[in-house]
Amino acid sequence: MQSQAPTPFGTSNRKKILVANDDGIFSPGIKALALALAEVGEVIVVAPDVEQSAVGHGITIRRPLRFRHTASAGFGDIAAYRVDGTPADCVVLGVHLLGTPDVVVSGINIGPNMGHDLTHSGTVAAAIEGLAFGLPSLAFSQVSSEGGEYGFGPGAAYAARLVRHVLDTGLPPRTLLNVNFPPGELKGARATRLSDHRYEDSLLRRQDPEGRDYYWVAGTIRAEDVGDDTDNGAVLAGYASVTPVRLELTARDLLSSLAGGLPGVTETALA
Ligand code: MN
Repeated sequence: MQSQAPTPFGTSNRKKILVANDDGIFSPGIKALALALAEVGEVIVVAPDVEQSAVGHGITIRRPLRFRHTASAGFGDIAAYRVDGTPADCVVLGVHLLGTPDVVVSGINIGPNMGHDLTHSGTVAAAIEGLAFGLPSLAFSQVSSEGGEYGFGPGAAYAARLVRHVLDTGLPPRTLLNVNFPPGELKGARATRLSDHRYEDSLLRRQDPEGRDYYWVAGTIRAEDVGDDTDNGAVLAGYASVTPVRLELTARDLLSSLAGGLPGVTETALA
């Protein structure tokens, strides 16, 4: 079979926007995002072929990956490729095969990515992979209404505004923007910090048709920290939440007292 090489970003001076997600290439969230961003620059979509939610920043290194053009995903004139891998794989392949974009944009995820969710979010991991390439990166997620409805219109419109701004002004190094949208129209947008939003795992045991046990990891959302200055608080109040996020996880305040006091550990000077 003849191989079909990917078509890289064009050579015009339009800004190049790489769009990924973790819900898969057929998700309505990535479609809404890509179509809105087409007004801002040249968009190419690279997304997993099946849902990859909660895979975090996994990278596929022990098997080959395929990168396939996908005309049937409903993106109109926007080129779209699907990858049989993780969200981070999509960004790695996208940058190498299509050329370096001006920005990496992930989403719009079906469901929130707030607080501790960031440790397992594939949506945010795609943006983190953008940071690994030194590129400005943003992640977008949509919270449902109480009835479980997802409307991506208001969020997609705000995403286009925000990405246009980031393309004009840039972002500080190694910093991404993690954005969550409330259901319905936006009252506005707030700069926030991460809350303690998380899923408390529970384990369900069922039996397969042959009577053998299998297990299903489920979770209940827990969030005690919902202050106005948090991502969760902003979304609950009807605002888009915009959190600047870095991968700096060091507990710097404990370096002297905790790490410095461990057996055999010598405290090093901190810059
Ligand atoms: Mn997802």
